[in-house]
Amino acid sequence: MPALIFLTLCFAALVMLALGQAPLSIWAGVAALLTLIAQFGLPYSEPLVSFAHGAFAGWIVAGIMAVLSIQPVRRRLIIGPAYGALKKLMPKISATEREALEAGTIGWDAELFSGAPDWSRLRDVPPMSLSAEERAFLDGPTNELCRMLDDWDIRHTRNDIPDEVWQFVTGKGFLGMLISKEHGGLGFSPQAQSLIIGKIASRCPDAAVIVMVPNSLGPGELIEKYGTGQQKSKYLRRLAQGKEIPCFGLTGPASGSDAAAMRDIGIVCKQTFEGEEVLGLRLTWEKRYITLGPKATILGLAVQVYDPDGLLNKDEDIGITVVLIPADHQGVEIGRRHLPGGVAFPNGPNSGRDVFVPIDWVVGGAEGLGQGWRMLMECLSEGRAISLPATSTAAAKALLRNSTAYARIRKQFGLPIAYMEGVEEPLARLVETAYVTEAGRAVTASMVSRGEKPSVISALLKYQSTERMRVAVNDAFDIHGGRAICDGPSNYLQAAYQAMPVAITVEGANILTRTLITFAQGALRSHPWLYKEVEALRDWNVTRGLASFEDAFCGHVSYATANIFGALFHNLTGGYFANAPAYAGANRRWYKQLARSSRSFALVADLTVAVLGGGLKVKQKITGRLADALSELYLLSCVLKRFEDDGQPASDRIIVNYCAANHLYAFQQAMKGVIDNFPVLPVRLLLRPLVFPFGARRQPASDRLGKEIVRAALQPGELRDRLTRDIFITDDPADPQGLLEHTLGKTIAAEKADRKLEKAVRAGTIRRTHDNDWISDARDKDVINADEAKTLKELEALVARVIAVDHFDADEIIPHYRKTGAQNLAAE
Ligand SMILES: Cc1cc2nc3c(=O)[nH]c(=O)nc-3n(C[C@H](O)[C@H](O)[C@H](O)COP(=O)(O)OP(=O)(O)OC[C@H]3O[C@@H](n4cnc5c(N)ncnc54)[C@H](O)[C@@H]3O)c2cc1C
Repeated sequence: MPALIFLTLCFAALVMLALGQAPLSIWAGVAALLTLIAQFGLPYSEPLVSFAHGAFAGWIVAGIMAVLSIQPVRRRLIIGPAYGALKKLMPKISATEREALEAGTIGWDAELFSGAPDWSRLRDVPPMSLSAEERAFLDGPTNELCRMLDDWDIRHTRNDIPDEVWQFVTGKGFLGMLISKEHGGLGFSPQAQSLIIGKIASRCPDAAVIVMVPNSLGPGELIEKYGTGQQKSKYLRRLAQGKEIPCFGLTGPASGSDAAAMRDIGIVCKQTFEGEEVLGLRLTWEKRYITLGPKATILGLAVQVYDPDGLLNKDEDIGITVVLIPADHQGVEIGRRHLPGGVAFPNGPNSGRDVFVPIDWVVGGAEGLGQGWRMLMECLSEGRAISLPATSTAAAKALLRNSTAYARIRKQFGLPIAYMEGVEEPLARLVETAYVTEAGRAVTASMVSRGEKPSVISALLKYQSTERMRVAVNDAFDIHGGRAICDGPSNYLQAAYQAMPVAITVEGANILTRTLITFAQGALRSHPWLYKEVEALRDWNVTRGLASFEDAFCGHVSYATANIFGALFHNLTGGYFANAPAYAGANRRWYKQLARSSRSFALVADLTVAVLGGGLKVKQKITGRLADALSELYLLSCVLKRFEDDGQPASDRIIVNYCAANHLYAFQQAMKGVIDNFPVLPVRLLLRPLVFPFGARRQPASDRLGKEIVRAALQPGELRDRLTRDIFITDDPADPQGLLEHTLGKTIAAEKADRKLEKAVRAGTIRRTHDNDWISDARDKDVINADEAKTLKELEALVARVIAVDHFDADEIIPHYRKTGAQNLAAE
């Protein structure tokens, strides 16, 4: 047998054993068989034979494997010593770290970490759907609210939310969407909440915030999930009806990202309260940046509770606890207002010193003492998946809708700017962002709607959707030029621009969320074996711990082997043999590439954790890139699923191709960044050939495809509507956004006549200057007919309004709150 065939056979056997995660005894048998073939099957002339005959390396390997496949021997020689050594090295995990790690659920993220995603788990996530009641609310009261919102008036003139808006949202139950029907709320699904908040955000981000906050982490959710019966009956109905306005205070001046390091304290004590001596907490706190704080009637506060006098018969350090305090309770100081860069929702500090509250005011009562961090982490893992992805996605869709319309209406050099390649680039990015963020939003909201609390996915979706929105806003600004920069009632872009840093900073500022939370947490939670190993090492019962460790360790070795050989095999064969679901159809190649990439990711992620271990927290450039790589795989999964869930519309295929090519390219770049910068040389040398055996050759989507998707999105109709679904759209020419829609239709209708006119202007037949009525001139010279002249005249008037920017008297520019001086910025 020629050596080449033999080597191919060996490689094929190794790949099959590794991918099949065969037991060690089978490996030993196959190693013995291959050694036999090498000894007796190869002619003496083969160069390999001298090695096979001389060294008997194959027999040694097969022998070691055979011995180690005997469980008691394996345990004595390897597992036992490894368990003992690792148990000593095991870093301490603080209670708050542990609660953060354990919060939430794992799902599709674990499939991506596995290296061999099971497509049925993705397909099992139900397609986006709303109940009839939810759909009616989205199309009814939500549209009505959008119509009454005047973004400029709110953001600039008042710098506040008008009373009539508050009345409308409280009256219609917007603030109680997550509160169950049983407790007087609307009991809407997370999917419905996401779409409703998104639609409002597409009209006015400030109004979205006042609806979003009561429907995310805060008193409503905390009481619904963890409150005592008394708290539920006292507050939930009132919260749902907007009779109580909630806020939630976690952040303080010294504790931002490191919220658990708060200095806010509650001392367990007894005090007379309403004429009786009761057990309670003496609270001292200083919070800042609290959204709705200045308007709130009920505060949810996180404080660190201590019991120095042992009144609870527990440890002195009870832990983080959430307390509900009426804003008018004695000693509560609701501060003045912050002015977060141009946005108008109420936000401000609050504080208190030695404020006594009875223990009944702790969320969950006495049982809830010390449970605060767990509650917060659980709610956060769910909430992050909804609110900010909803607002960012809606912004991306609105930016696309407005920018495509504007770029087709606005002409320079005699041509709509949309047809210039330089403008086409940001337009293509906008199409991609709108499609991808909506895919991620919808799929993730469906996961939450069916009861998942995806901690890793929600973290990556939060930072990805808000970062993509940051790029999208800048792209929209570039496309609009000065029209975007000059603020005023007709500017429909400034609100998103001003709200964008808020989205990036809240619910875990993006740098931290990307570099620390997504991968560091994901590696432990979503990895198939790591958490099991850690749990086994932490088990106080050594016999039980050793047995669980053995299972996890053997599983881990088998997984690592599958990753090594699987990655090499799929990267050598370009993913040709990777697994794709039967229903993949035209997207078969993308599913295969996703499976191939998942294997490479699993390999690199696993090795990174193994080599960097506890150092992961500080190697944030590595973990950040791994978070990016995981995000690209997740978003590509969502893009493919969206296409399926939408019924595989043929016109969307080019967009899927565009997105998929870019996701895979970004994935490659992230992986290349990890490998090129990996701090341990042997790991770099090992990973490069396994992940990039032929180099990093993948290219982003082509310019041609970019042109195709932009041309498709510029055309009014089904595809454009699907790309921008469920945002507020009007074609009322009295509204700045409606004017765009209205003018776009007229622009397209007048295209033929306009071309004739442009040709005549270029030829010098018609002079287009302020001293000349060039349309009448063109009609008189038979360049266009009378009907065309009428159409062009009408269009010209509309275009003049579309491209106009606002101007003001000097006095008008000063916002109302600065003129009156004291309303929101009262002197100290
Ligand atoms: C408009 C607005 C509304 C808000 N609403 C609320 C609210 O209702 N309730 C509430 O409790 N809080 C609220 N916040 C607070 C918000 O959650 C915090 O701003 C956020 O947690 C970040 O804290 P910080 O601003 O102090 O930044 P810092 O913690 O000082 O962080 C600064 C930068 O350092 C990065 N960073 C910090 N630590 C690490 C690390 N270990 N690794 C890598 N990077 C790191 C962060 O990502 C960030 O980019 C709000 C904030 C704003 C601006």
